[in-house]
Amino acid sequence: MPGAPTDTPADLSTECCIAGGGPAGLVLGYLLARAGVKVVVLEKHGDFLRDFRGDTIHPSTLTVLDDLGLLEAFLELPHQEISELTGEVYGQTVTLADFRHVPAPRPFLVLIPQWDFLDFIAEQARRLPTFSLRMGAKAVGVVERDGRVVGVNVETVDGESAIRADLVVAADGRHTTLRDSAGLTSEDLGAPIDVLWFRLPRDAAHDPSRTGGTIQPGAMLVTLNRDSYWQCAYVIPKGSAEALQTKGIAAFRQRVATVAPFLAPATATLAGWDDVKLLSVQISRMPRWYRDGLLCIGDAAHAMSPVGGVGINLAIQDAVAASNLLATPLREKCLATSDLAAVQRRREWPARVTQRMQIAVQNEVLAPVLAGAQAPAHLPFPLKLLQRLPRLRRIPARLIGIGVRPGSFRSCWMRDW
Ligand SMILES: Cc1cc2nc3c(=O)[nH]c(=O)nc-3n(C[C@H](O)[C@H](O)[C@H](O)COP(=O)(O)OP(=O)(O)OC[C@H]3O[C@@H](n4cnc5c(N)ncnc54)[C@H](O)[C@@H]3O)c2cc1C
Repeated sequence: MPGAPTDTPADLSTECCIAGGGPAGLVLGYLLARAGVKVVVLEKHGDFLRDFRGDTIHPSTLTVLDDLGLLEAFLELPHQEISELTGEVYGQTVTLADFRHVPAPRPFLVLIPQWDFLDFIAEQARRLPTFSLRMGAKAVGVVERDGRVVGVNVETVDGESAIRADLVVAADGRHTTLRDSAGLTSEDLGAPIDVLWFRLPRDAAHDPSRTGGTIQPGAMLVTLNRDSYWQCAYVIPKGSAEALQTKGIAAFRQRVATVAPFLAPATATLAGWDDVKLLSVQISRMPRWYRDGLLCIGDAAHAMSPVGGVGINLAIQDAVAASNLLATPLREKCLATSDLAAVQRRREWPARVTQRMQIAVQNEVLAPVLAGAQAPAHLPFPLKLLQRLPRLRRIPARLIGIGVRPGSFRSCWMRDW
């Protein structure tokens, strides 16, 4: 295949090797391959079929897909479109965000299983001659020479091998292996919550249709309408899962039914704790995202909390910025460490601002709610304002749907195509 990475069983040489086939790694692989760069993406699992990845695709990502000419095909996949986010806060229905006015080709949030999104991108990428995706290939550490990262050691069922690359990208998520193996550090910013992630069947005839959440003293439950089922996220204080589990699954079913009574009949389908996944939440960021020959992006560089459901968005925007800034130097064999620094400069501020907002919500809203504080006599002032002045709902919609520094990546990556 002309231009494809050189491939022998023992050794492989390419221009860019990306560890991690999540939103950051796969989108970066696709974009670089579209720009003519030889790319190998490594994904340690054999498929994308895991249900704890987050299911949202935001208007800013729809803009990227539109610009790439992929939006119509993407929207043919089964999905739901969310124009408003609504919650039950201490017994009152509150509209938190209205996406109808966000500046995007489609002003709504798409709910879609992440494996469908990743399969879609992988399918598009496989059509490109310089793209290669290796499933079941785990990056176990960087290869170094003279203080520079020059490749990755990879483990597959067939054994170990090395991939040499002009650039290695660590897009291997929150529990990144490559970052640590390269001696780079990350600062833990703390998260007072964990999440219990499970699904319940949805009764289309009787259940409500809206996607949102319920807040009561001592409990928060997010319910994402996935048509035939509810994807549920039950937020708990960090480290409290074990105590909850010792009380038994029946007690947990009861808790869920108390917070959201319409779910009571469906909770019977939770047969045991195997049906409920504990997702540990962390917020962290690297002071420095790169070193010679290596760049970290997405959650590997800045692990995001689920608050606002924006981590996928940020990961994809990192990929777009990285592709824009690195495709030409990679193709022309003149990549410098200053190019990697430019990616961090471009993306660090949006990640920091978003994390700051997530920390504020975690500490000021979620932690007191979970501590079991009494319901306040009145709605908190910002929520009251959102109910009185509906136009203000555009602000959270923009923050969630577009993110900070809107549009920067679009004008940026157009240069490359
Ligand atoms: C409970 C919870 C719910 C969330 N819900 C949402 C949501 O609804 N919307 C949203 O936008 N964000 C959500 N987030 C945040 C979001 O999941 C992340 O910010 C986002 O997935 C980051 O994308 P990524 O590509 O950087 O990493 P990941 O999505 O973590 O992808 C990393 C990939 O690398 C692979 N990998 C790992 N190690 C290796 C290795 N050594 N070799 C090869 N491959 C490897 C993994 O299998 C994975 O496929 C949630 C987070 C949590 C904790």
